Amino acid sequence: MEPVRRRPAVASTLVAVPDAPRADLSRRAFGHTADRTQVVAGEAAAVREAATRVLDGETLSSVVKDWNERGLTTAGGGPWRVNSLSGLLVQARLVAPPRILDDDTHRRLLALHASRGKGPRRTTRRYLLTGLLRCWRCGGTMRGMPRAGGADLYVCPGPPHGGCSGTAVTADHAEDAVGDMVIAHLDAAGVPRAPVDGRETLLELAGHRRRLLELGDLWASGEISKEEWISLKRNVGNRARAAEAEVARLSRAAALRDLAGSGRVLRARWPSMDVEQRRTVVQAAIDHVLVLAAEPPRQVFHPERLQPAWLD
Ligand SMILES: [Zn+2]
Repeated sequence: MEPVRRRPAVASTLVAVPDAPRADLSRRAFGHTADRTQVVAGEAAAVREAATRVLDGETLSSVVKDWNERGLTTAGGGPWRVNSLSGLLVQARLVAPPRILDDDTHRRLLALHASRGKGPRRTTRRYLLTGLLRCWRCGGTMRGMPRAGGADLYVCPGPPHGGCSGTAVTADHAEDAVGDMVIAHLDAAGVPRAPVDGRETLLELAGHRRRLLELGDLWASGEISKEEWISLKRNVGNRARAAEAEVARLSRAAALRDLAGSGRVLRARWPSMDVEQRRTVVQAAIDHVLVLAAEPPRQVFHPERLQPAWLD
């Protein structure tokens, strides 16, 4: 959350109007006039539009990007962020007179918010992108890092853990942005089509593994030299690894077909999917995501910082 600068108590008393709402007189809230007696039509319409889009399965970061591109600012005049939009959509004032949202929409937004784990803080967060983010500086695999006093992060770990500790990205931003990218990618490319079944590849893999064992026997019984054994083993081993990769690819594609169907269906289902289901989809589409350096101003997240390496 951005820090809220409040006027000193004395100034507050001076601007207080007898019948004005008590809350937050120093700060206008987006969608309402400063005294909260009227809605600001354009902003209220934007709130209703965002509510519809988010409930239809669009990610917060996608709406935030759109709002910022359209020049919509917070009541304070700043750019929108995932956290500020997320907080806005669950504010109680939206359903207090003069109301901006109807009760049903607001209830669904509250439920969605809670299911995203952004309501009351949970003790352990599940990190959607564990093992998938790479530091641009050192290539290290970034890890989830919970923080008590701020947003959870993914960070490049220190040198003892194979990183440079030089890169960090806010976990919510990265997860929303990667979810958006994967859905958009699948919308454009379609879900990878797999052959009718992967039985032939599995048989091939079993054959390679059997031959590896036979080669060991041939060497042990003296029928081939150690050099021949090493050379043949390398050759068959390479083919076995290629078959293993193909089996993995086919099972990813099958998992994705089961979960997604198509990018559009996936977009609608995404908000109600749990971390494991989302992870299956993300892993089926990308090998890893390179995280570039944050450019100033560092407080603003640019999705371009995340460079996905697609699997297909
Ligand atoms: Zn690093």
